[in-house]
Amino acid sequence: MDDCLFCRIIDRKIPAKIAYEDERAVAIEDIHPQSPTHLLVIPRQHLPSLLEAKNGDEALLGHLFLVAGQLAQKRGLDLKGYRTVINTGAGAGQTVFHLHVHLLGGRAFHWPPG
Ligand code: 5GP
Ligand code: ZN
Repeated sequence: MDDCLFCRIIDRKIPAKIAYEDERAVAIEDIHPQSPTHLLVIPRQHLPSLLEAKNGDEALLGHLFLVAGQLAQKRGLDLKGYRTVINTGAGAGQTVFHLHVHLLGGRAFHWPPG
């Protein structure tokens, strides 16, 4: 998808700090971090949001969370806790319409989220 920011980052047409990648997912440093660690775990496959996920996408969705958990552990976030977030739709704060899991850590988080 030429008009999708994250597809362009995955295709290396736009630079980003790549923290991890495998055959199904890429993790990048968020350009405007909301916590000391703020990574985005992005599927290589273009899915606009969780709304478009369907039967058959279970393994991919699970993989994104496994990668997020492994990255959290690698960065020592598991000791104090971390947050994984998917914003779905503009009303929930989604601004890039290519599904991604935020991995946030390195500070205290409040509940309910804002
Ligand atoms: P959303 O608001 O869709 O849940 O999350 C999109 C995230 O992408 C935001 O946290 C935003 O800071 C990040 N972002 C937007 N543009 C870029 C970019 O060009 N590069 C990187 N690395 N992150 C971006
Ligand atoms: Zn895309």
